[in-house]
Amino acid sequence: LTRLYGPLTALSNVRVDVMSALVSFERVFEVLDLKPGISEKPDARAIPRGAGRVEFRDVSFRYPSAAEVSLASLEDVAALDRTASEPVLRGVSFTVEPGQMVALVGPSGAGKSTIAMLVPRVYDVTDGSVLVGDVDVRGATLESLRDTIGVVTQDSHLFHETIAENLRYARPDATDEELWTALERAQVGHLIRDLPDGLDTVVGERGYRFSGGEKQRIAIARLLLKAPSVVILDEATAHLDSESEAAVQQALAAALTGRTALVIAHRLSTVRDADQILVVDGGRIVERGTHDELVAAGGLYAELYRTQFAVAGSPRPFAEELPPG
Ligand code: ATP
Repeated sequence: LTRLYGPLTALSNVRVDVMSALVSFERVFEVLDLKPGISEKPDARAIPRGAGRVEFRDVSFRYPSAAEVSLASLEDVAALDRTASEPVLRGVSFTVEPGQMVALVGPSGAGKSTIAMLVPRVYDVTDGSVLVGDVDVRGATLESLRDTIGVVTQDSHLFHETIAENLRYARPDATDEELWTALERAQVGHLIRDLPDGLDTVVGERGYRFSGGEKQRIAIARLLLKAPSVVILDEATAHLDSESEAAVQQALAAALTGRTALVIAHRLSTVRDADQILVVDGGRIVERGTHDELVAAGGLYAELYRTQFAVAGSPRPFAEELPPG
């Protein structure tokens, strides 16, 4: 158990790093600002439109060494050199069939976010391959990769621009009516309608400050406009007020319907609904199955299910729905 408690109490620190990584990973996709080093091959193929199958084939991954990344501080370089020698993922294989939802669970630092980031090529695998619609993502056109995959993170990024401009990153030719439809489906239409400037409301520090839950719903509206066939979702761990929480859940349900979803799961309702749960520990998939199968198996998942509840008073995953005892 010590193995689990340690990482869990350290979670709040780790989360900051992971979130900054995820913010940039969402931006990579929403703003088309691709990372250096991720390039399109001359003979790249388009992922077929609407393709929803995601497959990991014996994937290993280590974070790039300092030499491969331009960094400002020598301290960071030294830290990266140390981590670079350690593979973060080893022999990861799984398939998400079109329209399925697969949940990634596991202790902090297990490698869940890293798995999620390899799909939209925030990083490329060290060994093995990641396929979307049966095309190796390294051999796919960047445009088709971008069109096929949508990302929603805990800390969705909105630009200091109008709501309409923020939404049109997903679909530049969308009409105002289409923007409103997406906002309604994302449970945030009424809020924007009540603002004096409506779609022209400027977001951010010097503009209108939306709450975390509202920003996330606007990001979900952006996803709905983009209509990707594969969604990568990092579920929120932060506590939203219950009204906002319910609205975000409804918005996500709309966003995931009919799409393939790979979810870093923090809610019991998600894992219960998942077609398959992958339990990640130390960079490997150590268990896989449905919620009931994994609880019955009495392994790491069953332990996580119990112990995550034990971190008293914190908004830990599963806490709201645990069985008595
Ligand atoms: P959490 O539940 O805390 O979000 P996780 O299961 O998503 O954790 P990852 O974020 O994928 O775990 O991290 C897996 C390992 O990779 C950890 O040991 C982490 O410290 C390391 N790691 C993550 N990002 C980087 C990076 N940019 N450079 C080097 N190592 C990293």
